[in-house]
Amino acid sequence: MSALARKLAARIAAGGPLPVDAYMAACLADEEFGYYRRTNAIGAAGDFTTAPEIAQIFGELIGLWLADQWQAQGSPPRFNLVELGPGRGVLMQDALRAAAQALPAFVAAARLHLVDISVPMRDEQRHRLGAYGPSWHADLADVPNDAPLFAVANEFFDALPVRQHVRRGAAWHARRVGLREGRLGFVEGDAVEVDFERPQAPEGAIVETCPAGEAIAAALGTRIAEHGGAALAIDYGTAVPGWGDTLQALRKHKHVDVFDRPGECDLTAHVDFPALMAAARKGGAASYGIVGQGAFLTRLGLPVRLGRLLKSAPPRQARDLAKASQRLLDPREMGTLFKVVCFVPAGASPPPGFAAELEI
Ligand code: SAH
Repeated sequence: MSALARKLAARIAAGGPLPVDAYMAACLADEEFGYYRRTNAIGAAGDFTTAPEIAQIFGELIGLWLADQWQAQGSPPRFNLVELGPGRGVLMQDALRAAAQALPAFVAAARLHLVDISVPMRDEQRHRLGAYGPSWHADLADVPNDAPLFAVANEFFDALPVRQHVRRGAAWHARRVGLREGRLGFVEGDAVEVDFERPQAPEGAIVETCPAGEAIAAALGTRIAEHGGAALAIDYGTAVPGWGDTLQALRKHKHVDVFDRPGECDLTAHVDFPALMAAARKGGAASYGIVGQGAFLTRLGLPVRLGRLLKSAPPRQARDLAKASQRLLDPREMGTLFKVVCFVPAGASPPPGFAAELEI
């Protein structure tokens, strides 16, 4: 049993089964033993890898997207540039380098705010982004709300705790984590009030909600409505409200049981994009998407940029570059499982990469 498993077992023995979101929050963020408190998770030697770690062109295009949106909104002389869950800081480093070449005034006007709970990740971020004088926060709520907000979140929302509900007749029961013969496992709780509808879901179907993610999307929407700005969220998940248990654990790039060594594995769940968009709209912003990552990056000109790079790259590097880009774009890899949405001021036209109508 991991140290966190023992701690959770004692907590359950004393207070009863935990809602799934409380379990997930403990696994990822427990003060002593949470996954993001202590592990260096990302990269070949870690547990998972992400788009900015695969190809620098990803962060560069996002930097250009943000700079374009800043310019489209009148180049405000001061704004908050926010990254939610910056990981090793690679995306923002690539974004700022590309933006500085294309539009130096954008970088000059930016105040960089990094929202992350992970101490080891913050060290990595300091290493790559220290020159930009960032401030760190554990929560978006701590970022000053005094200027336009331009924000990006890549594989952030999938790390936020989900609740699970099980259909029983006309009711929905909370799924919980309890003890069975001394081991952590799922148990079913009482019927609860829910704010979703899934008339087609069969008996026993599991519906997930992510109140923490919706609260952040709503806060982004409110800030953008108040001060202007734009936010981009990229993640893997669903484009239509459905059902299914998507909670998954990864360790050393392999799927493991979600109760296997809690606190030592990455835990994620699919992002419910329609729910995030609805929350941002409730906050007062407009939302665009949902577009597949492959289509989004293609529209932003990834193939053109790649073509230019390939011309000057030595053969081996060119092969690697082409392969990495393919991984981001290909529908059999990250191209459609990963999806993109953005939040912009109400009435703003669709930013580059997005169409006016719902796309998926
Ligand atoms: N965006 C990066 C990292 C993704 S991993 C990339 O694409 O490579 C998820 C990131 O979110 C990590 O940096 C993790 O420390 C951070 N994180 C996870 N849960 C969080 C929370 N509740 N609040 C703030 N940051 C969180």
